[in-house]
Amino acid sequence: MKRVLVQKRGLDKNMLDIKCPYCGNRSQNEFSYGGDANIKRPELGKEISDKEWDDFVYFRKNPKGKHSEFWQHVAGCRQWFKVLRDTSTHEIFKTAKLNEDL
Ligand SMILES: [Zn+2]
Repeated sequence: MKRVLVQKRGLDKNMLDIKCPYCGNRSQNEFSYGGDANIKRPELGKEISDKEWDDFVYFRKNPKGKHSEFWQHVAGCRQWFKVLRDTSTHEIFKTAKLNEDL
């Protein structure tokens, strides 16, 4: 008989508890960080400089404090959503669907 080990939610106290707007609270290991939620893609059809394109593609701020981020619930509903998180304490203040405000 084969056995499958499954980590139960809430057992690891070092993991963040993230509230997926679709599924509710889950352990951090079910999620994947998706980047800064404040980056705006250049407007389609509008000419931009190489520097503006480089800034969009490569350069990110590294703020200390409250930060809006994209996360995906990869081991759950697979939905993308926004998280308002403190980058120094990892405290999560709010989560929201992509079409909602943080
Ligand atoms: Zn979910």
